[in-house]
Amino acid sequence: MQELGIKMNVIEQILEKVPRDAMIANTGYEGANIILYTKNKRFYLHGGDIIRRLVEDFKKRIELRSDSSIRMDPEATLSLVKTSMPEDADITNVFLEPARSLIIIESKNPGRAIGKDGENLKRIKEKTYWTPIVRRESTIPSKITQNIRKVLYEDNLERRKFLHKVGERIYEYKKSNGKEMWARLSFFGGARQVGRSCLLLQTPESKILLDCGVNVAASGIDSYPILTAPEFDIQGIDAVIISHAHLDHCGFLPYIFKYGYDGPVYCTAPTRDVMALLQLDYIKVSHAQAKDALYSAEDIKKVVKNTITLDYNEVTDITPDVRITLHNAGHILGSSMVHLHIGEGWHNVLYTGDFKTIPTKLLNPGHWTFPRVETLITESTYGGQDDTMQPRKKSYDELIKLVKETIKKKGKVLVPVLGVGRAQEVMVILEEAFRDDKNKPDIYVDGMVWDVTAIHNAYPSFLNKEIVQQIFYNNKDPFSSGMFKEVAGYKERQQVLNGGPCIVLATSGMLVGGPSVEYLKSFCDEKKNRMVFVCYQGVGSLGNKLQSGERTFIDNGEQYEVKLDIHTLAGITGHSGRNELMDYVRKISPMPRKIVVMHGENSKCLGLASSYHKEFHVETTAPRNLDAIRLR
Ligand SMILES: [Zn+2]
Repeated sequence: MQELGIKMNVIEQILEKVPRDAMIANTGYEGANIILYTKNKRFYLHGGDIIRRLVEDFKKRIELRSDSSIRMDPEATLSLVKTSMPEDADITNVFLEPARSLIIIESKNPGRAIGKDGENLKRIKEKTYWTPIVRRESTIPSKITQNIRKVLYEDNLERRKFLHKVGERIYEYKKSNGKEMWARLSFFGGARQVGRSCLLLQTPESKILLDCGVNVAASGIDSYPILTAPEFDIQGIDAVIISHAHLDHCGFLPYIFKYGYDGPVYCTAPTRDVMALLQLDYIKVSHAQAKDALYSAEDIKKVVKNTITLDYNEVTDITPDVRITLHNAGHILGSSMVHLHIGEGWHNVLYTGDFKTIPTKLLNPGHWTFPRVETLITESTYGGQDDTMQPRKKSYDELIKLVKETIKKKGKVLVPVLGVGRAQEVMVILEEAFRDDKNKPDIYVDGMVWDVTAIHNAYPSFLNKEIVQQIFYNNKDPFSSGMFKEVAGYKERQQVLNGGPCIVLATSGMLVGGPSVEYLKSFCDEKKNRMVFVCYQGVGSLGNKLQSGERTFIDNGEQYEVKLDIHTLAGITGHSGRNELMDYVRKISPMPRKIVVMHGENSKCLGLASSYHKEFHVETTAPRNLDAIRLR
């Protein structure tokens, strides 16, 4: 129809195909989804076939909801839902989003809340004409995750307006119709380095930011992406996509909101929750180091409000000429590879983010089959010639051996962790190792790691089958096994520091501020104590210095001598080792035409790019920050 010169938007086109007696009273976008609000009770309950046909014709997600005039009174609706749900659904909260005609039901047992073939929800729908949605609530209580949910549902009219605005942008009439297509990628951070990942994809219709991280191991201006580059214009950004919740991929995001960005952020639901937690922690660590925080909790709240979550494999338009799909990356909970379909098939890009190609204790391996991929952008954290990982099982065994040895000598073990990823994997390994042990050691999980663990429990569909089995069917959720004790504050931490042999998991993973440094200061004096590194240690970080042999450090003007034993377990990483990175390109389907290597130290990016070129005879490049490359 646009070809005829009549600018009819997609909603108008859909309405033309809806029968008149459907009585559509209102319409709206929710991001790329199209929502029709009906005044006809019969059509609301039985219009499913017509809607399905429209979805097929328009290749868009179309949802039918009720107009407020036909809905049951809110009070009566709430009490009906509360009284009609089975006891074992373990409902923790029910509330309404009147602006979107939704009832949100939070349950610790969603399967029971939904009922066989969705019968419970169907009943609610028939009686109230509201649309019920069930969300899983973690069985591990965590205040901070409850706060995130509250922020999300606080102002549902505002949320509806925001989602509609996003949709209007997505379905905007293409200015570039019939003109030449092009696409360009600029690197603002994370090129030939690990940290502050940030890329800009530009097309005639889109400006999309891929990740927006900080470099926690660097200081000052080098910690942040180079957004003073001329092609970066905060007001012009259409969308931000966050691959996963580690700070080197999302730590700078609240800052761009602080300076006026007000558009959507796309990521998975667990990424949204963990990201907010880590950003809040980042503020806390800055304060503890007497540094000005980059942003405030208010800015993080804005990020949460503007986030549109996607499931793995869910295809969605985000601008008039870019469509994305997130796929499992196997790196941490909710981590994604981002597939970008540009200009109706003109070009396809896969941005891997951080990824793991083999299964771990928690996650399935990263995705490798796609309909099309012409350009692959890969990480290379462990892309060096010597970065071959020992088998995972061997690392697991080694960790258990190291821990048992130290406990036997009445020593203490410190495992600095990133808060998300290795922390939970180490918990699963320890739980398994000591499950049947009569003399279980004390295992302390400091502050934030605890909250992140609660989020794992809330999103089991993002974990691998074995863990899900343990959580749902055997009642052996490793995270709530009772073996782990939460260290919630200063006083409790003092008790651990002054107490007997134990294992401590604490952030930050690179010993740049946070509780892990407090534990190190207390443990470092004794030879019988031990520190085990299980994650990447960024250049410049205290962790990296100790790993490379330094044995003193200064904190708050005081010098400490490090006598405790230090071990690095490379095999437990959530990154792919050299062989895995090579294997991934061997198995990825289809074979890309061009490979862009980033997220690695200089020599590793160059080395891996050259190895890819030699083996696969494809164009490879290892851009530097501020470089721009054209796609196709
Ligand atoms: Zn990461």
